[in-house]
Amino acid sequence: MPIKLVTTATELRAESARLLTQKQGVSQGLVPTMGALHEGHAQLARTAAEQNDVVVASIFVNPLQFGDAVDLDRYPRTLDADLALLEEQGVDLAFAPSVEEVYPGGEPMVRVTAGRLGEKWEGASRPGHFDGALTVVAKLLHFGMPGAGLQAGGAFVSGSAGGLPAYRAYFGQKDAQQLALVRRMVADLNFPVEIVAVPTVRSSEGLALSSRNRFLTQEQSEAALVLSRALSLLEERANAHEPLDLESAEELVASQPLVEVDYFDVVDPRTLEPLAENCKETPFRGEGLAIIAAKVGPVRLIDNVPLNS
Ligand code: AMP
Repeated sequence: MPIKLVTTATELRAESARLLTQKQGVSQGLVPTMGALHEGHAQLARTAAEQNDVVVASIFVNPLQFGDAVDLDRYPRTLDADLALLEEQGVDLAFAPSVEEVYPGGEPMVRVTAGRLGEKWEGASRPGHFDGALTVVAKLLHFGMPGAGLQAGGAFVSGSAGGLPAYRAYFGQKDAQQLALVRRMVADLNFPVEIVAVPTVRSSEGLALSSRNRFLTQEQSEAALVLSRALSLLEERANAHEPLDLESAEELVASQPLVEVDYFDVVDPRTLEPLAENCKETPFRGEGLAIIAAKVGPVRLIDNVPLNS
């Protein structure tokens, strides 16, 4: 089915209600994005299309989460290509609102605060970033919530229990801190939505796909491969129940002069607190997350790998 582009919350509600009725759907999935879509986003959209009767993808470059106006201005915008990619994955509705539609009164006075979990790692180098990101995710989760417009017409009766349709939202493991924070927000503030995490999609050589990769030269892209290689080293050690030996993974990254590491550590996947030193020195057991951030040329890259042993 051809994708439909909507730009206002009112249209989105009406169209989602219409589609749920037409398909006798019992579930709706939301895929929030900032556009400039690649195979990573496609994977989110495909997963949402497999699991839901109606799928909405939002495309919105959120000014609230950019500390730097230049970064915001140069964020790539590729709407036509984005719509084609989403349609191919089976997305029904693309919601691409203007800044005024999302923030009609200008910058919101009341916001979601990410708290301590938002101050570490990415938050340390991008103050306010996660407050801005969570605020827009909260708004997008509300915009994309099925059912809000259904009772008015009274046409739609949902699945077995006759209640509202199931509601799921899809986030990439690639942005592990964002994912942990969205999970916390949804749990702490009782949002009626299931958060689904989608594994990181990589290039054939291992580089985690990102809209910002297009700003890397060939030489920088090759240098950036050291990030995923260092993470793979830790993953292999965890799988083999060996000590993680973070130092040798750090040395591998340090051997690449074009890569300037910001942080590299092994943390608890939920709290993002560093795991005790002894987890790195004794055979690894349990659950962890290896996280890395580095500047390669003009681009700040992040990557991570879940560790399970
Ligand atoms: P963005 O448009 O960069 O804000 O990303 C939108 C969503 O796509 C977020 O949930 C990201 O975590 C997810 N995403 C971005 N890159 C990837 C990737 N390489 N693999 C999986 N998910 C991704």
